[in-house]
This record gives sequence, C-alpha cells and structure tokens, in this order.
Amino acid sequence: MSNTPHKIELSDIEIDEQGNDHISSCYNTPLRENAFAISDDEKIKIIAHHFEAIMNTLGLDLTDDSLKGTPKRVAKMYVKEVFSGLHPDKKPKASMFENKYKYKEMLVEKNISFYSYCEHHFVPIHGVAHIAYINNGQNIGLSKLNRIVEYFAKRPQVQERLTMQIGKELENLLGTADVAVFIDAKHLCIASRGVKDDHCSTITSYYGGAFNESAKKEEFLKYLEIQTDKK
Ligand SMILES: [Zn+2]
Repeated sequence: MSNTPHKIELSDIEIDEQGNDHISSCYNTPLRENAFAISDDEKIKIIAHHFEAIMNTLGLDLTDDSLKGTPKRVAKMYVKEVFSGLHPDKKPKASMFENKYKYKEMLVEKNISFYSYCEHHFVPIHGVAHIAYINNGQNIGLSKLNRIVEYFAKRPQVQERLTMQIGKELENLLGTADVAVFIDAKHLCIASRGVKDDHCSTITSYYGGAFNESAKKEEFLKYLEIQTDKK
C-alpha cells in the first residue's frame, strides 16, 4: 500500500458545496511539500501578477491612481501578514518555566482575540480563543498563548482545524494532554455574503486529558461565563 493519500475526484458543484458547508478533513494545514521552495519576495511578485489579472478580468482600470498599487499591496499583505503563519519559521519559540510554586489548578487565559481567513472564501474570520491547561511541572509564558493562537490563525483556515492545531501544539509544548481550547468566532463569509447572517457565531472546542471529565470541563466553562474584562 502506498502512503499517497487517496484522491477523491469531486465535481465543481460538490467542491463548492463542501466549501460553503465548511467541511474539513485533517488538522494539518494542507501544504505542498515544496511550499517554501521560493522566497517570500518571489511569492509577492507572483501573487501581485495574478491579482492584477483578477482585477483586470473584473474590468478594473489598473492605471487608476487608487487601484494601481493594489496587486502589490494585497500580495504583501498575504505573504507578510495575514498568511505569514503558513511558514514554519514563524512558529513562536515557547518560553517555558518550571512550576516552582507547585500551582496545581487549571490556568485559563480568556478572550485572546484573533483574525484568520476562511480558506473556502478568503474572507476574514474573527473571534476570541479561550485556553486552559493544568501544568505537568512546566508553565508557559502567558503571552505565548496569544502568539500561538496568532500563528495558527494567520493561515487560510477552517475553525475546527484552528482549534485542533492550537490544542495539539499546547499538548506538545506543555507535555500534558490536560489542555482545553474554546473558540467563538464570526465568519464574514456567512455575515457579508451567502446567507448574510450577521448575528450568528460559531463555537468549536478541544478537550484533552482531564478536560474530558465533566467536572473539569464545567469548571473551565464556568470561568468563561465570568465577566472578567471590566475596565
Ligand atoms: Zn467561508
């Protein structure tokens, strides 16, 4: 048996329906093996060229002062900002420290806001992530939790995969399965087009180890209900 994944041929209609329904298959971002064979600068050049073609095809006049810089601007934004988390070099280095004070309860960081992009429509997803873990002798710098969310968010994403990628990464870094991730997000592909529902939000969660016990899960969810961001 070969290790090559079985390719299912889908019709354009099926692909479109799958995209609109936001079905995802695996928690690794599907990247080609040679995804980083060319430099960021080369990627920017190629994307700018193709984006210009898209704008041209739409009938826009690229000699207009307001439009002529757009292809390059979009290309730079894709490579250097909103999709920069595709590059493994951008993965945040985790600063871990020993739990000298023997803290044994769960630690919860709430309301980590993020922007991502729906990989089916290339429009923003924005929301908040709530993270909890019970340390196994190691703690992680709090701001690293924000950085990890940001790193995985800066990719074309589906929310389920984003949630799992954050959960798996924390499990690896912390050396414990006792990790929970809860994401509440708004998808602009649902709000601004298609069904145009501006009010709905999507919730996904990841529970590992102790968080599969209902008491721990409830404790975590209770903390999320407490209004903590009073200014
Ligand atoms: Zn979408």
